[in-house]
Amino acid sequence: MLSTMTSDSVDAANHDRLAALGRKVLSGHPMTRAEGEWLFSLEASADVYDLLAWANRIRERFKGNRIHLCSIVNIKAGGCSENCRFCAQSAAYQTEAPRYGLVDDRAIQSAAEEAQTNGVVGLGLVAAWRGLDEGPVLDALCRQFAALRRSGKARPDASLGIIKNPRVARRLAEAGVECYNHNLETSRRFFPQVCSTHTYQERVETIRHLQAAGIKICSGGILGMGETRADRCELAFSLREIGASVVPINILNPIPGTPFADRPPLPPLEILQTIACFRFILPKQEIMIAGGRAVNLRDLQSMIFLAGASALMVGNYLTTLNQPVEKDLQMLKDLGLDPRWDKHGFSDQEETGAPPAARHEPVVA
Ligand code: SF4
Repeated sequence: MLSTMTSDSVDAANHDRLAALGRKVLSGHPMTRAEGEWLFSLEASADVYDLLAWANRIRERFKGNRIHLCSIVNIKAGGCSENCRFCAQSAAYQTEAPRYGLVDDRAIQSAAEEAQTNGVVGLGLVAAWRGLDEGPVLDALCRQFAALRRSGKARPDASLGIIKNPRVARRLAEAGVECYNHNLETSRRFFPQVCSTHTYQERVETIRHLQAAGIKICSGGILGMGETRADRCELAFSLREIGASVVPINILNPIPGTPFADRPPLPPLEILQTIACFRFILPKQEIMIAGGRAVNLRDLQSMIFLAGASALMVGNYLTTLNQPVEKDLQMLKDLGLDPRWDKHGFSDQEETGAPPAARHEPVVA
């Protein structure tokens, strides 16, 4: 049957529905799955710009004008046993990414000094390996985390892969690790097409061990790997249910030599739409835009904040270059956003009132 609605009336209906959903989130009510799926399904650019405007209001309501800055330092590079198909550091692929063993304390302290100079809140120590267990490497890392904490230069964060032993998580917490990055990467459905050497469930269990030890979770994913919009929506709801405090959104920067080298780039507006949908679903979390932003968004980079981002990864990424930190800081200043780190703690989960163990049980088990 032919519709008698004009395109104008369709737009007006979307405009009204977006406004109703925006007001619902602003008043503290969580989005339903069906509502999230509808936001992800919007196609018309007029609707997407409308969505961005509401996402910006939600960011302002829950995060103010504060921007949380993080940096990373690669403490062990390349030669990883895992086969994540986007990753230049996997030993399974021939890439030009650097390879080196565990760095010494000086490299970490120098990264911490740079972070402090740039007003960065968290410094993540990142290692390219499957995961971490008890032993001399954990002992050395704990000494480094404790030294970083004592220095007061940056919050000691970690991204050290899969943890199967709850004692490892407790040791990291005792050493001062406050936040651990472990991305779900994508939906549970799509994950086997991203990696086959470990499972989505192992990632979920790692997050549970860390939460049980009292460590905050930084967990997000990568856009543009061939996933559907429904996969992105699923990821956003899984991150809400698992209780992530910081949600990094990476956009695939296809690396020659990796199986995802030929994935077509996402249109910038679709990336911004995804960020905005995440802000609707995760209104209080730090939504951090990380790897791939410069290459994929180009001149639209500053629009990530209009789309609802409240955090930024600055400095270089693990295997690719970012734009200079000074340029990012100038962008924030020009937008009237405030990255001063001494004022920022985690402001997401405390407001929800639920303890970590209760928050993540329902969906990801
Ligand atoms: S993403 Fe991490 S676990 Fe996967 S291959 Fe790269 S370094 Fe290894």
